[in-house]
Amino acid sequence: TQDCRSSVETHRICVCVRKRPLNKLEETRKDIDVISIPGNGSLLVHEPKQKVDLTKYLENQAFQFDYSFDETTTNEVVYRFTAKPLVYAAFEGSMATCFAYGQTGSGKTHTMGGDFRGKNQNSSTGIYYFAARDVFSLLSHRKYSHLNLSPYVSFFEIYNSKVYDLLNDKAKLRVLEDERQQMQVVGLEEVFVSEAEDVIKLIELGSACRTSGQTSANANSSRSHAVLQIALRRNDRAGTLYSKFSLVDLAGNERGQDVNSNDRNTLNETAEINTSLLALKECIRSLGQNKDHIPFRMSTLTRVLRDSFIGEKSKTCMIAMVSPSMASCDYTLNTLRYADRGQ
Ligand code: ADP
Ligand code: MG
Repeated sequence: TQDCRSSVETHRICVCVRKRPLNKLEETRKDIDVISIPGNGSLLVHEPKQKVDLTKYLENQAFQFDYSFDETTTNEVVYRFTAKPLVYAAFEGSMATCFAYGQTGSGKTHTMGGDFRGKNQNSSTGIYYFAARDVFSLLSHRKYSHLNLSPYVSFFEIYNSKVYDLLNDKAKLRVLEDERQQMQVVGLEEVFVSEAEDVIKLIELGSACRTSGQTSANANSSRSHAVLQIALRRNDRAGTLYSKFSLVDLAGNERGQDVNSNDRNTLNETAEINTSLLALKECIRSLGQNKDHIPFRMSTLTRVLRDSFIGEKSKTCMIAMVSPSMASCDYTLNTLRYADRGQ
């Protein structure tokens, strides 16, 4: 199979879409698969009502991405085309970031491999593991071993625009901008890791205390952004930062009006999520257009990830997850429009 290093080498931003299979519940409900992936980065949404008017739906519902993955694609293949080039970029000194975006239940956590609910039974081997594995193989690779780098892991969540350290009992942390305009998450725990399994254990530990809430879409929906970072530091006295690799499992992008609640907390959460996802979109759009001004101050999420957006050598990949089901069609179109680079 082809390797996708070329895409990320030539672009600062890569946007992909991944469709998951219909699940058991959807099958029992006789839900219909309305998404097809013809290949070469394209995706079509067939709304049965519109199927008659083929030209109309082709015009309105055809989307184009750098890569599109169908329901038969494995996590490992998705990794190879999305985050793997970023791991290589990090060894070349890039600040590299990969986002999982989409509706609750669309497969963000599955793709990342952070599914540790129910004591590992459901856990998927995903981007977290493959990236950690490749970090360790590159550390000892002859091309990079002379750099004398050590990997450190941090894992935190952003909930209602506050940062909580998942590796330190959910300590609430402040984000400060120093005199060199660098963003610092003050007191964030950074754990030295010596093998890929260490990274997974830390994620498992941290995932157990992630904030979750109830929405009409999914009882276990995640209303926070989870950020895993692997920092590569030089083995000098100061532990100088060489590069950073971030994997972000974003909060569900369900829209405000769909949240079935009068609860003030829930409404607040939703407003915050919308603000940060909008900010992220603005930053990514500015990146894609090679603009000088990147509006990263718009939200805590984008402030914390400032280095991912600023700087010549930053590389970003966004994976938009979609459910195939007819019942999710509105959400899916919402996700596709968000991720569409032309928008
Ligand atoms: P999200 O994190 O976006 O809310 P999840 O990753 O938790 O969604 O996925 C919801 C359910 O669908 C989980 O049970 C997950 O295992 C399953 N799932 C998601 N994507 C896939 C896939 N590509 N193949 C098989 N099962 C999947
Ligand atoms: Mg999730």
